[in-house]
Amino acid sequence: MKVVTVIGARPQFIKAAVVSAAFRDTAGSVKEVLVHTGQHFDDPMSRVFFEQMMIPEPAYHLGVHSLSHGAMTGRMMELLEEVLLQEKPDALMVYGDTNSTLAGALVASKLHIPVAHVESGLRSFDMLMPEEINRIVTDRLSRWLFCPTATAVRNLEAEGFRSFPAEIIMNGDVMLDAALRFRDLARKPEEIHDGEFILATVHRPATTDNPAALTSVFHSLAAMAHTIPVVIPLHPRTSGMLSKYGVDTNLPGVTLIPPVGYLESLWLLQHARMVVTDSGGLQKEAYFFSKPCLTLRDETEWKELVEAGVNITAGTSPENIMTAFNILINLRFVPDLSLYGNGEASRIIAKTLA
Ligand code: UDP
Repeated sequence: MKVVTVIGARPQFIKAAVVSAAFRDTAGSVKEVLVHTGQHFDDPMSRVFFEQMMIPEPAYHLGVHSLSHGAMTGRMMELLEEVLLQEKPDALMVYGDTNSTLAGALVASKLHIPVAHVESGLRSFDMLMPEEINRIVTDRLSRWLFCPTATAVRNLEAEGFRSFPAEIIMNGDVMLDAALRFRDLARKPEEIHDGEFILATVHRPATTDNPAALTSVFHSLAAMAHTIPVVIPLHPRTSGMLSKYGVDTNLPGVTLIPPVGYLESLWLLQHARMVVTDSGGLQKEAYFFSKPCLTLRDETEWKELVEAGVNITAGTSPENIMTAFNILINLRFVPDLSLYGNGEASRIIAKTLA
């Protein structure tokens, strides 16, 4: 079984690390060819993950980045088509909800190469999010729908996927596999001083590309920092937008650091008092490490966390953010990791394809 795996963005490197290792453990039943589209390309957003998580060097680097959605997806499709015609794989594997995911699924399905989608079935029900469009189209084109949660399975069922020629597999979340495998290797980032802190990340276009939302989020983080210092590993898109909109980031108690590697991110998660984020992945990782999560969005794909009362979707208004902050800051809980499988999600994927 030959699988071409398309990855291009930070969270995809993290997910691919554990699945790629599971493929290597099949004793040759699954042979993987890695393709890096180049969507995230600089060292702190790409290379560091390959080094820390021992991901093999991709066979192809497409070098596509910094373009509009249409241009980026189109350029990736052209180049991926060439790769697939040359490699003639038995299946194509994609992760999550980025333009790299969509481009891979479109090209493969037109060449009649079956698609495996990891993190299938997630929905925010907000069609203004580019990620939601990418997820829905990719799911519809996929032959294997690997779902991280029971909610994801229910979403697919509600959309009629049981009547499509596709297999719905509830395999669990590969990010749990990664967190369990790498947590003991966590490393403290150099920039961090001793003492309590709140971990915050901001990178979604819905927050970064809206000056009012971005300003409001940073004002709120400054307000939280009156109680507990805030540490923000800053995504390159966010730094670009903060300077473009002239948002003041020189705020007492708020420390901006460059994006960190996965091992440093795991350290920050394990030592933070709570997490404030618009990231998808970080919401779950906060849960894995028993940290309450304030989500800077109006909805989340990880509904089970909101139902468990450990995640509040506060949006970007300062009033809502501060109300949620006051509820979450003293919350203590023990996570039920079984919501996200049993740490064997990547092995189930490898076994299914093998
Ligand atoms: N992450 C990281 N370094 C950082 C910020 C995040 O390694 O500076 C990790 C984080 O631990 C999680 C993943 O990146 O595993 C989340 O990716 P991101 O927030 O970029 O994307 P999303 O999950 O929203 O798709």
